[in-house]
Amino acid sequence: MKSYNIAVIKGDGIGPEIIDEAIKVLDRVGDIFDIKFNYKEYLMGGCAYEETGDPLPQETIDGAFKSDAVLFGSIGGYKWDNLPRALRPETGLLKLRSALGVFANLRPVKVYHELTQASNLKEEIVSGVDLMVVRELTGGIYFGKPREKGDDKAYNTMVYSKDEIKRIAKIAFDIAQKRRKKVCSVDKANVLEVSQLWRETVEEVAKDYPEVELTHMYVDNASMQLILDPKQFDVILTGNIFGDILSDEASMISGSIGLLPSASIGGKIGVYEPIHGSAPDIAGQGIANPIATISSASMLLKYSLNELDASMAIDKAIAKSLHDGYRTGDIAKYGVKKVCSTSEMGSIIADNIGVKKQ
Ligand code: NAD
Repeated sequence: MKSYNIAVIKGDGIGPEIIDEAIKVLDRVGDIFDIKFNYKEYLMGGCAYEETGDPLPQETIDGAFKSDAVLFGSIGGYKWDNLPRALRPETGLLKLRSALGVFANLRPVKVYHELTQASNLKEEIVSGVDLMVVRELTGGIYFGKPREKGDDKAYNTMVYSKDEIKRIAKIAFDIAQKRRKKVCSVDKANVLEVSQLWRETVEEVAKDYPEVELTHMYVDNASMQLILDPKQFDVILTGNIFGDILSDEASMISGSIGLLPSASIGGKIGVYEPIHGSAPDIAGQGIANPIATISSASMLLKYSLNELDASMAIDKAIAKSLHDGYRTGDIAKYGVKKVCSTSEMGSIIADNIGVKKQ
């Protein structure tokens, strides 16, 4: 039997509730595919600050490095909003990503057939959307120096080295090769020098992937095209700030933020988490949608453990649960057979994976 070590960071708010369901589903898939998952819990975020005075204790970083992958829920909450920046829950997460060197953030946006009417966009626009945003995560304007906030003037610097662009572009092309073989690189090369280097470098990387079609789009046009005709996209490759904005925009195509997973990869250890936050407004009520987190566990199996059949079994079980009419409150608009609690939804998905044949 294969065995993997998973560092589990439940975090704050709805984090513990949704992670419990992802573990329920992982255990079921492990049972069927003869995989043993050894979980070890670590603290990060507000809960870590409360217990240790540090939003990212060294033990958590060490534990992540000793694992095969990190499964993470969410961090943050009103209670910690007024702490100094260094002690805030979000700082813990940024430091973890940086410590693990996860420079590539993958955000798949897939519209489940059963939920096409849950989107604010027209059914014919969203039906069949299946795209992947590949966002550079540890560079660009969020990290560039110099940066300064004065009373009358403030500035940040958008900087990318060729190597940083190359490595994220390679990830996007590798992913496109396993999908519909299309990369759309999004930049602002008509105005920004950093985008001109981005474009030249992406063109260079593309030469190694002759079977993948490369197009370029300015970010302002891309934000419009995403709403006009999201089906035109396969893989969207973009920098940190553009990816941050476009992937949130793209998430609304699916119908609920509670559906979308993410993978942060590129370092030795990958981090898998839903794209949403800790939802303090619904925490502890047992109504959060666990699908984004369960889907993140599927990405963990795919990208960190190369357990492709097990990953696909989870994806199919999620789709079947929706097809059968099971919904958490956030997506209970059409075709509803039963409105489920967080835990019921997790159990239904686990049951749809099946049972081990004796
Ligand atoms: P949020 O994503 O937590 O919530 C936004 C809205 O979506 C809320 O109404 C919430 O109830 C709903 N929602 C989120 N996840 C849901 C789910 N699984 N099922 C059903 N509904 C869901 O964003 P916010 O309210 O802006 O932030 C709350 C806290 O989360 C803040 O402290 C913020 O800093 C933090 N945050 C953390 C992360 C992370 O852990 N990666 C990401 C974003 C925000």
